[in-house]
Amino acid sequence: MLAHEPDIEAPFLPGRMDKRIRSLLSGLGVPWKYPEHPARLTAIRHLLELEPVPGVTFESGKAATREQLGRVHTSSYLDHIFELRGQSAWLDVDTTAVSPGSVDAAEVAAGTAIAAVEAVVEGRAASSFALVRPPGHHAEPVRARGFCLFNNVAVAAAHARAALDCRRVMIVDWDAHHGNGTQDIFWADPHVLFCDLHRAAPFYPGTGSLEEIGMGLGDGTNVNIPLPADAGDAAYLKAFREILVPAAEWFQPDLILVSTGFDPHSHDLAMEVSYDGFAAMTGILKTLARRHCQGRLVFVLEGGYNLISLSRGVRSVLRVLAGDEPPEPGQRGIAEVEAAADFHRGAFVGPPPD
Ligand SMILES: [Zn+2]
Repeated sequence: MLAHEPDIEAPFLPGRMDKRIRSLLSGLGVPWKYPEHPARLTAIRHLLELEPVPGVTFESGKAATREQLGRVHTSSYLDHIFELRGQSAWLDVDTTAVSPGSVDAAEVAAGTAIAAVEAVVEGRAASSFALVRPPGHHAEPVRARGFCLFNNVAVAAAHARAALDCRRVMIVDWDAHHGNGTQDIFWADPHVLFCDLHRAAPFYPGTGSLEEIGMGLGDGTNVNIPLPADAGDAAYLKAFREILVPAAEWFQPDLILVSTGFDPHSHDLAMEVSYDGFAAMTGILKTLARRHCQGRLVFVLEGGYNLISLSRGVRSVLRVLAGDEPPEPGQRGIAEVEAAADFHRGAFVGPPPD
């Protein structure tokens, strides 16, 4: 997955898309680099080596098969992507691109999400976290978007239903951006409950309004929670407790998947969630998974571009999965202030200085 590395200095397939994107980028007036780069994964791995989380073990993934990808993407889309193996090309005017190793990397990302689900459903792990890239939640049945080629979480959900005897799958997407691809794929599917908290339009990709609730048999199984830019821990946790908890109670999932982006952290300039916020959300999902589906809970990495909040965010989730009690957000520094208040208590008595 480190081999996916679009470099805009490299020659891309000539064509209208190349011309259009080069003109968009030259209009920026600043040098542009592909933000979804391999160091995202190496930074996470590095932090987990420096500060291991007791109880966490590593397993390798594997490439998804065409059959597994074909459960959520059309055959013509897969043909198109597979043709780009070994090449550099732009896929979408939103600057989604591939390098020579990208198609292999995307197959492994989707297959690793499947492997993470298998580890949990087969009982080899209590929970799992697929550390993958390219991310997936913007990829639609027929279109690559937002740095996503294959919709990893959707491929994993479809596999759980088709091959692992999971009848109902709940997907929670807490990436700062709306998971338009996942919404599209399961729009009319009553067996996948998709719940997405995100920064409201016009923020990218512009979808995810309250009224987008699914259609046909899937009417009511698409739940959007659009939020303002400065929403933080309190808003996220309120949404978890007042929307996701009753949604899971009603839906009775056999598996809970989490499209996990760390771009809601304030370092990524999209929202205001803290590490304790991510930990507390993980704690609620863990309780839901225990209550409804034998603890089956699988995280799949989506976005997050600041390498510090990305790696620290992953670690804060893993600590809760491995058994730590999630801290109450907003309490950092409170014990220190109480101690300082005790220390200074005697200072403000008697007459003020002359
Ligand atoms: Zn995102």
